[in-house]
Amino acid sequence: MQRQPLVIANWKMNGNRALVAELSEALQQQQAHYADVTVVVCPPAVLLPVWQAQPGVVALGAQDVNEHADGAHTGEHSLALVHEAGAQWVLIGHSERRQCYGDSEARIAQKLGQVLADSRFTAVLCVGESAEQREQGATFAVVEAQLSEALAQVSACERLVVAYEPVWAIGTGLTASPAQAQEVHGFIRHWLQEKFGSAGAAVQLLYGGSVKADNASELFAEADIDGGLIGGASLQPEQFVAICTAAQ
Ligand code: PEP
Repeated sequence: MQRQPLVIANWKMNGNRALVAELSEALQQQQAHYADVTVVVCPPAVLLPVWQAQPGVVALGAQDVNEHADGAHTGEHSLALVHEAGAQWVLIGHSERRQCYGDSEARIAQKLGQVLADSRFTAVLCVGESAEQREQGATFAVVEAQLSEALAQVSACERLVVAYEPVWAIGTGLTASPAQAQEVHGFIRHWLQEKFGSAGAAVQLLYGGSVKADNASELFAEADIDGGLIGGASLQPEQFVAICTAAQ
């Protein structure tokens, strides 16, 4: 099945107004080279309106949302707020949120349910094993548990993207080999088809973990890798544009 290539920048807690202008300009200049690729930028939430003011060659995403609609949740952002700021995509369950900010499986399921229930948004569910879990041969069991808990109450997958991000490869410079990544992507594809039937074949699957301009092409050439979720390299305009071009 033909799926549209997708590249998402996750700036984490990095970037500033100057980098918004720099990356936006680099992307506009090279757009012809990645014309068929959907490009989404997830900056820190306060930079969403700055991105929104740029000429629109990218879609915008939030790095997380709170599971509540409003209320006394100091420091958090609701889905309605990030929508006002321009986001139409949301990352859910990034490993840094899981490890450092209390995103339990139950909380991730709540957040995901909320995003998928709002037809203005696409949700990007992040899954992946730690180095220790891989060494123990538990990769598939971990990924399967993350998928089944997050998607337990979900019955349609039209606005769902899954990002496989082995924790040992995020920000470490270690990348899964194309074969290692494809093995897990194939497993995720099979799981989605079992749960959602033929609609599972249309879900875009992204690889994330130290993707750079020089390893993107070989990863994106794999059958079930439809693009990437890019951290560090998305802060370097030349690198990021080259990655978008590799996804074309
Ligand atoms: C990420 O944070 O989602 C990520 C993949 O980071 P990096 O590309 O820096 O490994």
